[in-house]
Amino acid sequence: MSVSVQIPTALRSFAGGQAAVDVNGSTVGEALAQLAEAQPGLRKHLFNDEGKLRSFVNVYVNDEDIRHQQGTETPVADGGTILIVPSIAGGSPASLEPSQLVGGGELPELTPDEMTRYNRHLILPEVGVDGQRKLKQARVLMIGTGGLGAPLGMYLAAAGIGRIGVVDFDVVDSSNLQRQIIHGTRDVGRPKIESARDCIQNINPHVEVETYETRLTSENAMDIIREYDVIVDGTDNFPTRYLVNDACVLLNKPNVYGSIFRFEGQASVFWAEKGACYRCLYPEPPPPGLVPSCAEGGVLGVLPGIIGTIQANETIKLIIGQGEPLINRLLLFDALGMGFRELKLRKDPECPLCGTNPTITELIDYEVFCGLDQASNVTESEDGVEEITPTELKRRIDDGRNDLLLDIREPHEHAIARIPGAKLVPPAQLMEHYDELNADRDTVLFCRVGPRSINAIKELRAAGYAGRMYNLKGGILAWSDEVDPSVSKY
Ligand code: ZN
Repeated sequence: MSVSVQIPTALRSFAGGQAAVDVNGSTVGEALAQLAEAQPGLRKHLFNDEGKLRSFVNVYVNDEDIRHQQGTETPVADGGTILIVPSIAGGSPASLEPSQLVGGGELPELTPDEMTRYNRHLILPEVGVDGQRKLKQARVLMIGTGGLGAPLGMYLAAAGIGRIGVVDFDVVDSSNLQRQIIHGTRDVGRPKIESARDCIQNINPHVEVETYETRLTSENAMDIIREYDVIVDGTDNFPTRYLVNDACVLLNKPNVYGSIFRFEGQASVFWAEKGACYRCLYPEPPPPGLVPSCAEGGVLGVLPGIIGTIQANETIKLIIGQGEPLINRLLLFDALGMGFRELKLRKDPECPLCGTNPTITELIDYEVFCGLDQASNVTESEDGVEEITPTELKRRIDDGRNDLLLDIREPHEHAIARIPGAKLVPPAQLMEHYDELNADRDTVLFCRVGPRSINAIKELRAAGYAGRMYNLKGGILAWSDEVDPSVSKY
């Protein structure tokens, strides 16, 4: 009876560097005894003086933890696999227990077509058929299909993740194409979730894609995130980062983090059960406006490709349970100097979320937490309509807020001057567009200087619309003065 015992990275130096050792035996006990004989250096790591398995060593047979069942008496079939998983200071290797998977611990079989497709994985002992079945069983949620989400989604698809969830509310813009390679030129103007889904399914039709065309909010985050095993944060704004982190901690999900700016990137894995969370690293967001967004500061197109690929790598490692994940490690990448640095992270016992005495026990208002809903950004007009300045609107656009922008003017005015992304709705046709309003998105209305858009807001309120609406203070003329002088004044 030949059995393969997979040796974890941490113990390989005691097994001549081998990733797997073939032994004979019909039970776990026999197989491990033979392993200890063949590799004496391993013995003291596996067994105590009485010859019992050490309490910090977990043994899996075909992905079942045998410790709580028949123990070393557990039979192993010819050709079976025994996996040794020691607990190690630093928390690695960390992987999702089969029982933690949303879809359950029963791993699906691979079809002959999949066996062919994933051949280069299957012949890696660290992945193998079982690892590939874990990937097939896994559900991964990508928050954002921008620069980070693009390579991430493509590699996760190619790797054979069973179900990929995609959250985005944006449409593809031609300025995205310099880095967001999951979208192509012909996708400009399409919702990003649609072009991402098409790309993923073109790469691998075995992947199920679940799309969520919405902004992730405190209202919907728990319900969406709950359905996935690993969450990958590819967002570009602080409120969503804290929201994703908090929801992941509350639901005990690993959060694979990546961020980029100009020529520098960061990556880590936040998993409160095993290490620091994002709040342990950054207890507070920077004040609004201090850290410019990529839209203002720019970003080297290939940078999100590198960081997003690292996120894909970490995601796959967590699922197959191999290697040393970036838990309690912050990886810094410098594209100009071309180098990686690594910082050690520590779980903060005082962390308000994952610390000993947490004060955050449910999702909060992240706009307020990040100082983005400051009263100074929103004022009221004389008739009680909420207004924002052109500068504030520009900031919201750059932050990817995806406000619905309504241009309450006539077509001939629209022909002279426009704000990009705004939809022309002449005042007389306002009610025909009522159904396009959506409380998930804030609506910003403008006209030339203000009265028509203020009126439109009042009309929509009177018709029963309860979502948030802002008037653009000073209209498109103020936009031209404050934000974009290339917009003609008339
Ligand atoms: Zn924390």
